[in-house]
This record gives sequence, C-alpha cells and structure tokens, in this order.
Amino acid sequence: MTLIPVDQARERLLATARPLGRVVREPLEQALGGWLAEPVAARVTVPPHDNSAVDGIALRWADLGDGTVTLPITLRVPAGDAPGELAPGGAARIFTGAPVPAGADTVLMQEDCVFGDGTVTPPAADGVRAGQNIRPAGQDSRQGDVVLEAGERLTPMAIGLAASVGVAELPVRRLRVTVISSGDELLPPGAPAAPGKIYNSNGPLMAGLLRQSGFSQVTSLWLPDDRARTREQLDALLADPPDLVLASGGVSVGEEDHLRAALEERGDLDFWRLAIKPGKPFTFGRLGDAGLPFFGLPGNPSAVLVCYLTLVLPYLRRCLGAAPVLPVPQRVLADFTVTRPGPRQEYLRVRRVERDGQAWLQRHPNQSSGMLSSAVWAEGLAVVPVDRTVAVGEPLDYYAFADLLA
Ligand code: AMP
Ligand code: MG
Repeated sequence: MTLIPVDQARERLLATARPLGRVVREPLEQALGGWLAEPVAARVTVPPHDNSAVDGIALRWADLGDGTVTLPITLRVPAGDAPGELAPGGAARIFTGAPVPAGADTVLMQEDCVFGDGTVTPPAADGVRAGQNIRPAGQDSRQGDVVLEAGERLTPMAIGLAASVGVAELPVRRLRVTVISSGDELLPPGAPAAPGKIYNSNGPLMAGLLRQSGFSQVTSLWLPDDRARTREQLDALLADPPDLVLASGGVSVGEEDHLRAALEERGDLDFWRLAIKPGKPFTFGRLGDAGLPFFGLPGNPSAVLVCYLTLVLPYLRRCLGAAPVLPVPQRVLADFTVTRPGPRQEYLRVRRVERDGQAWLQRHPNQSSGMLSSAVWAEGLAVVPVDRTVAVGEPLDYYAFADLLA
C-alpha cells in the first residue's frame, strides 16, 4: 500500500478546514491565549492628543531667543488634564503623557531649562528643533483602524493593544475538543501500577498540547480495545458532539485496533497511512452526519507529538483563520549523519546548539517513537526528507517547539 507524502496529507487536511466552534465575546483577561474570530477596530485614536514625551516645559518655538529670554509659567499640565490654550509669550509646566496645550509646538526637557520663581529660562533656539518631544495624536492608531486581524492569537501584547484602543471584550473562537486515549493497557494517572499495564501518557500530552495552543475546552475519554464498546462510545459522543475529536491508538493494522474500523462504521475515513516517521498510521476522517473532524493518531507518544505539531495544529490554525499554518523552518546544519535513506519523511528530536559562532543540530541518540524523554530533552524537530541521507554540516529544516506552538 502506498503511503501519502506528508505535504500532500497536510494540503488535503487544509482543503477541508472550515471555521470550527463558536464565537464568544469575552472580557480581555479571559480572552488571553484565545484566537480572535473577527477583526478589531480602534474605538479611539491612540494617543488621543498630542502629548509630551518628557517632564519639562511646553512653549512656542518662536518665543525662544538666544538663551537669555525668561518666560512666565502661565499653565501647569499634569497627565490626565485637558488644558486650555497657552498664551503667546508664556510657558507651560508639563509632565510626561500630558496633552500639549493648544498654541505650544515644542517641549523642552526640564534638565535643559533654568527655573526661577514662576519663570523659566529656556535654551537658545538654535539648539532646539520645533516640535521636539511631542508624541503626535494617532501615532499608534487612528479611530476605525483595524488593529488586530481575525485569526490572530491573543498574546499579552494583543490584549494590551486592544485595551489601548478602548475595547473591553473580544470575539474569541472557542472549540470543544474530545481527546480519546484507546488501549486496554492504559492506566489513568494515580492508579496502582499493574502487570502488563502502562500509564496513559498520550491523554495528558494531547490535552496539554491543545491547552498550550489556547484550546481550553478539552474533555478526555478512554476507550477499551473492543469494537462494540468503541462503537457505543462514539455514538454517545455524537449525541452531544464536540467540535473535533483527537484520538490516539487503535488506528494501526493489529487485530486489536478498532478505532479506525469504528470510524468507518460511524462516519467516513478520508485517508490514512502517511509517509511520516514517526506516525505512519495517522488517520483522518469525519464522524456522524454532521461530519465531525476526527484525527486518529498512532499510539506511540512521540508519534502523537509529531503528528499533532505537523498536521493537526496546522489544520486547527487554518480553521481559525490563522496564518501561516506552519512556521517558516530555520535552516540549521546537522551535527550528525543519516546513512540509510528512508521511504518516510522523518522528524528527528533535536537540540540546537551554538559552536564556533555557528548553529548546529544535535540528535537525541534514541529516536524510538515510544519514548518521551527524548522529546523533553529536545528543543525541536529536524526534517529528513524521503530517500535522503544526511552528512555532517548539511543544512536541514528545523522547527523549534516554541515556534510550532506559538
Ligand atoms: P497502538 O497504536 O494502539 O497499536 O499503540 C502503539 C503503542 O503505543 C503501543 O506500545 C501502546 O501501548 C502505546 N500507547 C497507545 N496508547 C498510549 C497512551 N495513551 N499512552 C502511552 N502509550 C500508548
Ligand atoms: Mg492499541
């Protein structure tokens, strides 16, 4: 059976992506980390008025002389005041952020002025630029400007910007995701260890990856290796469907792999078996009449990680209107060799290190798809294309986990 190339599988997924979940208006702090559903326009101009960049004196540049002129201080303008006009021949004591009074066109730092009793002697005109130390109204944004686009992740910076333009609530796209861990061998966290059993690591891993990308409404389920029970549980799920299902295990070719078969009974299998290492049994389909997106990831934990980052998250980003769906890879030199070309595109768990002013990728010595300690050691994934060997010093595409998860 032929394996689908990774890029082709991703294109196929992206082509089926539709907006998922619902749009909820949330107060700024709650919206943090979510995905913006609609563009945000500035309700006010920022800053709303020309204002002083320093603590000092506001005046008319034309009133400056040769450094011996003394002007009366006729106005005092702290931040938060709305001052009247500055009379010609007068000076205003002004503080950082305070509106520059009408008439004044220049602000001097207080350190450059000599103060008397209710007077100020400013420096000579030839050392002062007209308009200096004034931050113009609208320097950041103008009323009506779109300051945040739909599909943007709501970082602390984006939340701060929204606040600055007078917005108090943001439309956020919220998805409900069901995470399924399948396998008779799985124990929940905290259960006593037992012969033949392992702890379920994919459940917490998948839920954690989703939360890290701002998908906080995650429900976790366990499924036994039993066709009838799997079918039943999928039916129960379809009675109150989430927006997406992310499952692990049970999609390989063993007799105890029931999840893909149940998907075919209760929906449509779109495709499976990719030319990806780790992650060959990757499965995508739709459940029920409503076509609920279903991702069946392999059971091996590192395959879950690789498939989520390279296929599921790009799909989710497309559904949310985020661009790009994948970061641009860095090109970093391999500090290792790959001597045998392989039929699958391989994602190696690597670290990026600096040596002699040059960046290098170091590979974890154990790339078993069953282990996660190498994924914790690693800082990202290096890509070895199909049918390729790698020599030391050859540049490879490298995706830092931090970039993938941003
Ligand atoms: P499967 O895809 O069901 O054949 O599982 C492949 C391998 O992944 C087996 O060694 C399973 O024990 C392991 N595995 C499956 N599910 C999990 C899980 N949730 N946590 C940890 N390992 C798992
Ligand atoms: Mg299994």
